[in-house]
Amino acid sequence: MATQIMPSPGARGSTPGDSIPAIRLVGLQKRFGDVVAVDGIDLDVAEGEFFSMLGPSGSGKTTTLRMIAGFERPSGGRIELHGQEVEDLPPFERNVNTVFQDYALFPHMSVADNVGYGLLVRKVPKPERGRRVSEALAMVRLGGYERRRPSQLSGGQRQRVALARALINRPRVLLLDEPLGALDLKLREEMQIELKTIQRDVAITFIYVTHDQEEALTMSDRIAVFNHGRIEQVGSPADVYERPATAFVAGFVGTSNLLSGEAARAVLGADGTYTVRPEKIRLAGIEDPVGDDETSALGRITEVIYLGSDTRYIVALDAGGSLVVTQQNLETSSTEALARQGDRVRLVWKRQHSLPVQGG
Ligand code: ATP
Repeated sequence: MATQIMPSPGARGSTPGDSIPAIRLVGLQKRFGDVVAVDGIDLDVAEGEFFSMLGPSGSGKTTTLRMIAGFERPSGGRIELHGQEVEDLPPFERNVNTVFQDYALFPHMSVADNVGYGLLVRKVPKPERGRRVSEALAMVRLGGYERRRPSQLSGGQRQRVALARALINRPRVLLLDEPLGALDLKLREEMQIELKTIQRDVAITFIYVTHDQEEALTMSDRIAVFNHGRIEQVGSPADVYERPATAFVAGFVGTSNLLSGEAARAVLGADGTYTVRPEKIRLAGIEDPVGDDETSALGRITEVIYLGSDTRYIVALDAGGSLVVTQQNLETSSTEALARQGDRVRLVWKRQHSLPVQGG
């Protein structure tokens, strides 16, 4: 069960545990003419996992999802669902279902008819249909909404109807392609928590495509970070945030705070590229003492961005480059924070928080 799994840090697609994975991708490739959309992906997703594919636009997430669903044929490699090779199976024989961003409910039909539509097409008798529609609506906490029309629902409720419609056949894997993309921020945040709870209740493997790092961090058991048709890292949210494998992951999942070349040598006394998370850095006075286990760098605050609970400072380092520092506004007012622009400061952080990354 996914909830008991503790994946090893940086695991590159290995299924936690030793049971047959829900999904196994082996050397998966997809070319569209000259465009290599997916460039050799190896990945195992365990049964019951909430697994996110995270990456910028055009990195190959949707194409990967569409190949798993069966809407797109791979140019190379293999897809296994629960141990069975499926490249030659049409979508409806794969025991997977997909929820898209534009969830396209039929506006003239009731919620119940929308959810039960697939069963109607397959001529499932009415009493069974009614029972299963109620069950599916209960799963997404919309019991009692059977008779409403989509226009009488909020955006979040409509998305839950789409989810019920996808869950009604009890697929073993549910594929979700940016399903919350059309919702405003507040609703999206509420739905993230809802979705995670629903996934836990129904215990179905969810593959969730998003370009929103916070969304992926909030909901996922594990995340694959995509870039240019490849996976740069697979790990739990804490793995990819606290131990990013590459400069790209460090920048995409969080703020790109890199020290490399001259700056790394001057500040850290080391070659290579390092990242340090903005919240790990303390803003100190230039004369303040520095502990034995700490690193420090002198610089000047070039920009102050007040964010309510936190303030973000951009600091140009004497050694070259700049770092972003976030500080909680425990006792600082906005006026005090903003007045720091132009100040000379010493940045201090624990040595263990300088993380080596590839690339950069
Ligand atoms: P987004 O977040 O914008 O949906 P994505 O990470 O899902 O991006 P894909 O949609 O998988 O990325 O696209 C990967 C690459 O493949 C892009 O360069 C895209 O232009 C290209 N591509 C996708 N589908 C096709 C197609 N049908 N024909 C040609 N090129 C395509």
